[in-house]
Amino acid sequence: MNFEEHAGKSVLSRAGVSVPQGRLCASAQEAEAAARAIGPVVVKAQVPTGKRGKSGGVKLAATPEEAAASAQAILGMEIGGFPVARVLVEEQAAIAREFYAAVLNDPASRSPLVLFSTEGGMDIEEVAATRPESLRRMAVDIRKGFGPADARRLLLGLDLGEAAVPVAAMLVDLYRVYRQHDAELLEINPLALLADGRVVPLDCKLTVDDAALYRQTDIAELGAREPLSALEERGRALDLKYIELEGNVGVLANGAGLTMTTMDVVSHAGGRPSNFLEIGGEAYTKGTEALDLVLSNPGVKSLVVNFCGAFARTDVMAGGVIQAWKTLNPTIPVFFSIHGTGEDEAVRMVREELGIEPYDRMEDAISAAVEAAR
Ligand code: GDP
Ligand code: MN
Repeated sequence: MNFEEHAGKSVLSRAGVSVPQGRLCASAQEAEAAARAIGPVVVKAQVPTGKRGKSGGVKLAATPEEAAASAQAILGMEIGGFPVARVLVEEQAAIAREFYAAVLNDPASRSPLVLFSTEGGMDIEEVAATRPESLRRMAVDIRKGFGPADARRLLLGLDLGEAAVPVAAMLVDLYRVYRQHDAELLEINPLALLADGRVVPLDCKLTVDDAALYRQTDIAELGAREPLSALEERGRALDLKYIELEGNVGVLANGAGLTMTTMDVVSHAGGRPSNFLEIGGEAYTKGTEALDLVLSNPGVKSLVVNFCGAFARTDVMAGGVIQAWKTLNPTIPVFFSIHGTGEDEAVRMVREELGIEPYDRMEDAISAAVEAAR
């Protein structure tokens, strides 16, 4: 789940990190009223993408009238493909220096990574390429955490002057918020040193692990879930994990692992899957609903049914698919591979009731499905 700047800043603020005072506004009138209450402001487009500054989505306004005009100009813009429906009207900061700070999940070190650079305001990729000496990184052992001593060690040798102390404190705070909220990314660019010596986040990008939303209930309403397609909504209502994809080979397998293996083999054979669908665990009896869902994707040209039974019985799964097949009566070809518990019975049922011979090898069933979808 992604949090726009204003939402990310709310999360920071609730966690005790000071952020500039601001208001979310949906019209020029609201922006004007906000500026009247706040004073000189910066008006910032709220869209789930960066580079707003370069696109004209960030404007300084000295008076309420200017704030209204800026909001008028920014609302209705399109930035990175997103129409701007709201602006954040925030107190202007007297910026002395701009830094970069982030905490993120780092696949390479399989740990959180704290990043800091004295070069703020630009893309971090650009900083890494042009000013690598300004960029510091530290992998964190989550059992030990990231404390003031770690922050000092990370910043050692950087020319920060008096700012070193508040910057170190901010990094510790950012790591705490990242951990507390199961974040995948918390990025502050720029992290500003103000004329009065305070260090404050001027921008905020927050991504929280979707799998942790069940326990992040206090902030979940602030973020934006990726919108689900109509079919994905249907899957969710059925309690089935369904993801709609662009390909044309429908995949029906039991368990997330076998499903992903099947998708990999589809790709390996030169095809593209039209869905991910998990019907493992307790959902293995939902063959009918599952098949209906897979076949409802308008792109699907052939179907692979790949079952591997252990505790879940393949004859029960096959029974559901056969019943669904007879009800839905689809016109696309289907290719079965069935192994494990209940296999003999399942194969017999498919053969006798559908007149289709299951394949011995999964790879052959999948290659045939890819071929048929061409
Ligand atoms: P982004 O371009 O989408 O990353 O948007 P940012 O929130 O990072 O804003 C872009 C730039 O606007 C920042 O790098 C700052 O230089 C500037 N900016 C943002 N807020 C303020 C502010 O309160 N005062 C001043 N003077 N500049 C600001
Ligand atoms: Mn930024």
